[in-house]
Amino acid sequence: MDYRQIPPIFVAAAPGLDFLNSVATPVDEEVDWISDGAGLLAWLEQAGIVSRSAIAAVRARSTAAELDTVAARARELREWFRAYVQKRKGRSLVAKDLRELEPLNQLLERDEQYGQIVADVADGVVSFELRANRRWKSAESLLLPIAELLARLVCEEDFAHVKACEGPRCTLMFADHTRGHARRWCSMAICGNRAKVAAHRARLKEQKNG
Ligand SMILES: [Zn+2]
Repeated sequence: MDYRQIPPIFVAAAPGLDFLNSVATPVDEEVDWISDGAGLLAWLEQAGIVSRSAIAAVRARSTAAELDTVAARARELREWFRAYVQKRKGRSLVAKDLRELEPLNQLLERDEQYGQIVADVADGVVSFELRANRRWKSAESLLLPIAELLARLVCEEDFAHVKACEGPRCTLMFADHTRGHARRWCSMAICGNRAKVAAHRARLKEQKNG
C-alpha cells in the first residue's frame, strides 16, 4: 500500500521505537513510510526530528536517486536495530549488550553536530538558548539524527518495559510508561478495538451455542 495514503504512526512513546514502527500493517496491507527518499524526508519531518529548513536544504542539494539510496540504508539500519531490540526487549540491558552496538557507534562517529547560541524573545523578554545544530553535507547526513534516536533509546529507555503489541498481526513496538506497566496494545484505535470486537464476537458465539 502507498504510504502517501495514510499518516505515519507515532504511538511508541519513544522516538527510537517510532522509527521501527515506520513500517507497519495498520489495516490489511503493509505500509513502509520510508520506502523511498521522498518518504524518508516526509517521515523525518513528521516525526519532528529534522527541521523543515534542513529538509529543504538536503532536498535541494540531492538527486532523487541519492535520496532513495539513503532511504534504503535507513531501512537496513531499521531492520538491524529491530533484531537487536526484539532479542532484548522485556529485560534491562547489561554490559555485554554494548558489543553488538558497534555499527551504531561507527555511524555516530560521523556526526557533525555543533551548538549555537540564539536569542529567544517571549513577552518582550530576551533569553539566550543553546541550540543543537547539525551540518547537512549530503543526503547521507539524514542517517545521523536517526542514529541519535536509536542511541537514546538504548541509553535512556529501560528495555524491561519495551514491548511488542499483543495484536496477533501487529508488528508495532512501544515503551510502556504506564503506572503498573500494564500497557498491551500499540493503540486503542489500531489494535485495542480489534481485540474488543474479537472478544465480543467470541462471547456472542458462546451464547448462541450455549
Ligand atoms: Zn497493535
